[in-house]
Amino acid sequence: MILVVGGAGYIGSHLVKELVEKEEVVVLDNLATGHEEAVDSRAVFVKGDLGNVEDLESIFSKYPIKAVMHFAAFSLVGESVQDPYKYYENNVANTLTLLNVMLKHNVKNFIFSSTAATYGIPKEEIIVEKSETSPINPYGRSKLMVEQILADFHAAYGLNYVVLRYFNAAGAHVSGEIGENHDPETHLIPIILQQLLGERESISVFGTDYPTEDGTCIRDYIHVTDLANAHIAALDALLNGTKKAETYNLGNGVGYSVKQVIEMCEKVTGEKANVILGDRRAGDPARLVASSDKIFSELGWKAERGLETIIESAWKWHNK
Ligand code: UDP
Repeated sequence: MILVVGGAGYIGSHLVKELVEKEEVVVLDNLATGHEEAVDSRAVFVKGDLGNVEDLESIFSKYPIKAVMHFAAFSLVGESVQDPYKYYENNVANTLTLLNVMLKHNVKNFIFSSTAATYGIPKEEIIVEKSETSPINPYGRSKLMVEQILADFHAAYGLNYVVLRYFNAAGAHVSGEIGENHDPETHLIPIILQQLLGERESISVFGTDYPTEDGTCIRDYIHVTDLANAHIAALDALLNGTKKAETYNLGNGVGYSVKQVIEMCEKVTGEKANVILGDRRAGDPARLVASSDKIFSELGWKAERGLETIIESAWKWHNK
């Protein structure tokens, strides 16, 4: 059985939908930001907190867990700057509690959701895993701290892990049943699509004076189902013992500016966006684009869905 912590959240719920096809799954989620109805009905759902030792103990005592995937984190850069305690408490301290209970029950396979925010302001156009990690906000630091904890726990306690550094997760399940459902929504693609549906007045572009071609930030958008499939490849590698302590980037390798994303949304939907050019948002690097060559050469995974497919899938979900 696989424990998916945070399996009711955006990325976790998409992973669960794929994972239930091949494994028994138990989801632990406190529903702080997740949605129980997003959890595939083939998974066992437990409402509880990853920082609560009793909640964890009851799962590890009841189910034969062979690996843990951990998605239960706060992930908003701006919020992390305003309220770093929230980030260090949940993303670091609670993860430490989870790891401790895992080890007590001799569960030694862990897949960790990390982020491109660990790189800070990268020196390279295309980021590789060996690029310097120097996060510029508490969110990125909280994730890098856990990465460092994992390396130490591997050396000291034999904990095996795969760290997956996501670039910009986006899109929705092909069924249209689940998608990106944050409240309040802060992410670019759902905000644009909500505006195009008439659910918001306008879209603000955060900064037009970045050192990029059109002055807006460039990101590498990756479909959430591609992310899910990378987790399954990582799980296989941990369970068959071929990988014991690895870090991989997950991206498409193609960067799109905020303006280009808006244009693609207009193209896919046939609607015209109401755009306001605004100021920069704190904590945003100008450009984040991944090389995912390492995971392709080692695990055979690569992203299969580009920006247009991402937006088409998200549009289908938003229209439901
Ligand atoms: N962005 C924007 N307007 C918005 C939301 C986001 O211009 O209303 C920009 C943001 O500054 C960043 C990019 O879109 O450059 C992606 O932001 P998002 O919050 O989706 O993801 P992040 O990169 O923070 O993980």
